[in-house]
Amino acid sequence: MKIETKNIGSYDSKFVVCYSGGHSSAICAINAVLRHGKENVILLNHDISSKVEDVDIKRFKEKVADYLGVDITYANHKDFESMTPIEVCKSIGGFKFGSSPILCTYNLKTKPFYEWIKANDPEHLHTYLYGFDNTPDERVRMNRRIAAMGEIGCKTDYPLITWGKLKVTDTMKQLGIEKPQRYSHYKHANCDGCLKAGWQHWYVTFCNRPDLWEAGKAAEEELKHSIHKDYYLEEKEELFINMRDQGIPDSEHIPSGKFWATVRRLPENSLGLMSTWMDIDDMENEDVLVCGNGCTG
Ligand code: SF4
Repeated sequence: MKIETKNIGSYDSKFVVCYSGGHSSAICAINAVLRHGKENVILLNHDISSKVEDVDIKRFKEKVADYLGVDITYANHKDFESMTPIEVCKSIGGFKFGSSPILCTYNLKTKPFYEWIKANDPEHLHTYLYGFDNTPDERVRMNRRIAAMGEIGCKTDYPLITWGKLKVTDTMKQLGIEKPQRYSHYKHANCDGCLKAGWQHWYVTFCNRPDLWEAGKAAEEELKHSIHKDYYLEEKEELFINMRDQGIPDSEHIPSGKFWATVRRLPENSLGLMSTWMDIDDMENEDVLVCGNGCTG
């Protein structure tokens, strides 16, 4: 399919796609260009250290932007390459304080985003487009975003939820652009070792990114706080070794309930000395609380 790039005139107010590097935000961007013309669309991204943002995500976001003929506009933390989410939290002295948002999201994404709006859209003329999927969880997230952006006077739109049938829904089938490989294990294009994610994500991280698992343990030790609510990573390492050795798949694509039910089918004495069925319940409950999607905005 060839994207129509006819000049439909340049407006003062633009359509700013919160362009995370994930497949849904790419679908949002492509359909925004089809509807509004590339001259009226801004692809706004927060670049994240290649230590945690897969190089294949970077390949994907650049490939889609090239296809559309729209340069990516970056709103980054000034030291984003060295400041991984863990380094950000270490520099501040905690993962979060009380009911504050998690500190990596705020410093790597939210703060640069609001600074960009202040510098580039001071009168709030633009509309901010989010690639949230049309699912119950994402519709809840949409309502939260409408309220948060409304508070600062910005309009938002959600093409995958509110525009009805979209012309492009699959980058590979329709444009020949392969989805990031990351989707083979993970559901989202978030950071590897996401500090907001639950235990299922961290099991996938344990199996695939032992360097980030070790970095997480070291940060918990240094900060004397745990990333998760109930347990330190160190406390669950033996469990994860045993799960891996007994063939529990390292995938976020298995729904949380089914994933943990598979773990419960293992003999309790094979979980390791430090873990019981009750721990598994705690870990599953924390998965349910996850805001698992990208945190642009
Ligand atoms: S994706 Fe996760 S680790 Fe990365 S900035 Fe957001 S909350 Fe932090």
